[in-house]
Amino acid sequence: MAKANKYVYHYSRSKSDGNGKMKALLGGKGANLSEMSRIGLPVPAGMTITTEVCTYYYKNAKTYPKSLDGEIKTNIAKIEKAMGKKFGDLKNPLLLSVRSGARESMPGMMDTILNLGINDQVVEALTVKTGNAKFAWDSYRRFLQMYGSVVMGVEKRKGEHHDPFEAILDQAKEKAKVADDWGLAENDLRYIVSEFKKLIKKRAGKVFPEDPMDQLYGAVNAVFNSWQNDRAKVYRQKYGIPAEWGTAVNVQAMVFGNTGKTSGTGVAFTRDPATGENVFYGEYLVDAQGEDVVAGVRTPKPVSKMAKDLPSSFKELLKIRKILEKHFRDVQDIEFTIEEGTLWMLQTRNGKRTGFAAVNIALDMVKERLITKEEAILRIPAEDLSQLLAPIFDPAAERKARKMGSGLPAGPGAASGQIYFTAEAAVAAAARGQQVILTRQETSPEDLRGMIAAEGILTTRGGASSHAALVARQMGKICVCGAHDMDIDYARKTLSGNGITLKEGDFLSLNGFIGNIYSGKLKAAPSKVIQALLENKASAKKSTTYKKFTQLMSWADKLRTLGVRTNSDTPEQVKNAIAFGAEGIGLTRTEHMFFEGNRIDAVRQMILAVDDQGRAKALKKLLPYQKKDFADIFEALDGRPATIRLLDPPLHEFIGTMTPAQIRSLAKKLKVSPAFIKRRIGELHEENPMLGHRGCRLGIVYPEITKMQATAIFEAAVEVQKKKIKVVPEIMVPLVGYAKELELQKTVIDTAATEVREKHGLRANQLKYTVGTMIEVPRAALTAAEIAEHAEFFSFGTNDLTQTCLGLSRDDSSSFLPAYQDAEVVNNNPFSTLDQTGVGQLIEIGVKGGRRTKKNLKIGICGEHGGDPDTIKFCHRIGLNYVSCSPFRIPIAKLAAAQAALA
Ligand code: PEP
Ligand code: MG
Repeated sequence: MAKANKYVYHYSRSKSDGNGKMKALLGGKGANLSEMSRIGLPVPAGMTITTEVCTYYYKNAKTYPKSLDGEIKTNIAKIEKAMGKKFGDLKNPLLLSVRSGARESMPGMMDTILNLGINDQVVEALTVKTGNAKFAWDSYRRFLQMYGSVVMGVEKRKGEHHDPFEAILDQAKEKAKVADDWGLAENDLRYIVSEFKKLIKKRAGKVFPEDPMDQLYGAVNAVFNSWQNDRAKVYRQKYGIPAEWGTAVNVQAMVFGNTGKTSGTGVAFTRDPATGENVFYGEYLVDAQGEDVVAGVRTPKPVSKMAKDLPSSFKELLKIRKILEKHFRDVQDIEFTIEEGTLWMLQTRNGKRTGFAAVNIALDMVKERLITKEEAILRIPAEDLSQLLAPIFDPAAERKARKMGSGLPAGPGAASGQIYFTAEAAVAAAARGQQVILTRQETSPEDLRGMIAAEGILTTRGGASSHAALVARQMGKICVCGAHDMDIDYARKTLSGNGITLKEGDFLSLNGFIGNIYSGKLKAAPSKVIQALLENKASAKKSTTYKKFTQLMSWADKLRTLGVRTNSDTPEQVKNAIAFGAEGIGLTRTEHMFFEGNRIDAVRQMILAVDDQGRAKALKKLLPYQKKDFADIFEALDGRPATIRLLDPPLHEFIGTMTPAQIRSLAKKLKVSPAFIKRRIGELHEENPMLGHRGCRLGIVYPEITKMQATAIFEAAVEVQKKKIKVVPEIMVPLVGYAKELELQKTVIDTAATEVREKHGLRANQLKYTVGTMIEVPRAALTAAEIAEHAEFFSFGTNDLTQTCLGLSRDDSSSFLPAYQDAEVVNNNPFSTLDQTGVGQLIEIGVKGGRRTKKNLKIGICGEHGGDPDTIKFCHRIGLNYVSCSPFRIPIAKLAAAQAALA
């Protein structure tokens, strides 16, 4: 027989209709209050009206199920019995709190009413019962204020500067000549109460309800209504909480921390949520109500001081701390009140924590046998590991700092330094021992030295996958890019924002975690993990952070099935990546190897050449550079695979940004006239360089470029192999859209291999390599089966695949993407987190097509998304072999890959 629906769940000490697992029905708060009661903790008795009632309420024109009224009344009686007080009684009155509580906590989004059940008679009864008129009348005025605004809608009107209740309160304080609410005497409070009532009557057109049951229904309605208020709707959208979930309503006996010296109230975490240290962490106030702790009316004391102020309650609280952690198997964020020496628990929930704390707590809890390794891995948000790697600001210093603007947080970390507007000036300043922030409208290849020299990089244009951002990330630099609210005046050498103007050499601070930009110098230091891994510092290796980090990584390595490679262009970056645990290179952008020194001249010479002869001359210069770079990289890899991508130089990055001085200097070196160079730049100008003569299109038109690069790779391989180091070159052709393009390029590569083998007298198995392609334009994904005929591996270039799938320029989108995010057209920046719905489909088609032709085709991803945890989980699901990301994101990728394997 079907049981009648139960709409109200009771809880009181040791008795509980519900439990902690019933979050869907009772909401998080209600379920945990039930659970705490169930395990015998001191929870003021109460009831939870279920989320089903909320759903019913909205489905039935804001009416309630018939049986609800009876259930509420029965439950009030239970609360009265448990607390030894009576609702509306004139001897020993029970007051109630009415709070929302959805399945997932939505802090501050919905309504709360405290001190419910007071009226003109009850306030007198409360006075007699407590012998504390001030307390009784203060509770009454608080109740009227909350009830008046939340339930009866008396709020600030358009054109009013102050909340009307606050205005009355301020007036009364002025009259009484006191600075804060606590100075008000009984008479002042009586006056305030009568004024509040008049205000309610005038504004709401109704009198304030004296009947406690009417008050209760009014409050319950208000909480259910607040599920559909604007704030709650916006919050739900942001965090993907479905409207159908509804909220529960918790009606609970009030306990009072404001009845004298043996009372108090506080909030605490069972461990430090900032560091994760296993210490009791929190604040409390003696003789106060809950809001006073958070509202900053009085300065709360650290919870450890409770040992002196409220010793027996403190002892009990410490016991509860242990019980809660053991029971919930996670750090708890609690609220408690002590009423005349009796401790009451008002809330518990899993505590939010920093990345540092997340790692420390999860690992400590494994050691304490509270949770398993797998749970520990799943509990740490992968992205949070970046906090362990990056320098940080002192939070107090950051709070005080003057904000100049904000941009995209492109390179996590905190950097302070003196601003310089050119790479040269940045390099020179760094050479003088200064810490430098390279400040540019956007970065170009020339800026690389400046970027290397700088602590941090700020650009006022460009997006999360602009080359400034990805180079910065690859180098582990702190970077904020696309700060559109700031201005750079190169001529005056000034940076301005938010009414502040800085000159060259002035200090600026960047918070690359959140994209904030401050004037002045804020202190920062490299993380222990970096000191240990990259600087090999013995002291750092002894640090707890480092030890925990390595422990976590070793667990992640055992659990994950997805490979993790690195995007690295220099031996230095490769070394860093290997120190972080990279299993090889997933992408070397060979054009980035030309950013250094004189090489860029040779590249420009090659691009500007008018004939084969001119190009051959330039290529001859480039070959030895390339060979040396490849050899160094192969050595650093020590037998690990190296996916080397052939040249993909968007022309605007190499010649579009040349200044007149650079043109003059290049002309001199190449023994041509500046006019010739200018003319060639004009001839080569492209309207859409990202869709222009780049990628394999260059090698198709000029096969000699591909030949030079392939030769350099093979020559380097031969040289390194001689040192008895294994070399695994994987040559990758960029921007392929037609199978034929890959076929043609592969022929050139194979010819180069044959020539090098012949030159050195090697057999095929003595110089091995594979040829594969990037899948970075939609046509490649759609025709993957054909392309795979010529490919031994695929790597998804999701930067270009996103750009071309969405028709959205990776270099120009930062001006409107923030507005798109605000309007929730997109939830994330599609250049940072893969658009799984759109671009993801192309990838799945590509994977299926490729493996239809070659069952075991090796497939990876090397766009910026390869370091993004959500994307990594997607890659695992669709069966990629590896992800590749910048060196400093490798730990994050490993953790995300392990989480994907456990999901
Ligand atoms: C890509 O497009 O995803 C890619 C890795 O290549 P690049 O960023 O160099 O265009
Ligand atoms: Mg690309």
